[in-house]
Amino acid sequence: MKQELQDNLVKKYPKIFSEVGSTPQQSCMAFGICVDDGWGWLLDELCRELQFDTDNNNEPQIVATQVKEKFGGLRFYVNSATDGQYGAINLAEAMSMSICEQCGTTQDVSQTKTGWIKTLCVKCQKKEV
Ligand SMILES: [Zn+2]
Repeated sequence: MKQELQDNLVKKYPKIFSEVGSTPQQSCMAFGICVDDGWGWLLDELCRELQFDTDNNNEPQIVATQVKEKFGGLRFYVNSATDGQYGAINLAEAMSMSICEQCGTTQDVSQTKTGWIKTLCVKCQKKEV
């Protein structure tokens, strides 16, 4: 993910991303948000919903402990969460399977069949090869 994009998310949701800037011994967030730019808007939507629930509905504060891509899907690990919060996270993780990780489109998106599994649109898959 571009540094600028990550900085924006951290600035917008400082409590969720409070472990960004830790050392690797303290938190996996030391490595930052380890997904490509295309999922930036999905993370933005997810964090907005989580923070809104914390600020307005007395849900506990979520702290992201690791954000990465695995088997073509988003993985958003947190310290702890309620069932409702896990529901929002699971939904975002499921949605990532139909969003191009590079450009963020939802058009003609599929998982690559060879090598490392990535979720990409037709155009970005051509660029990858
Ligand atoms: Zn794409």
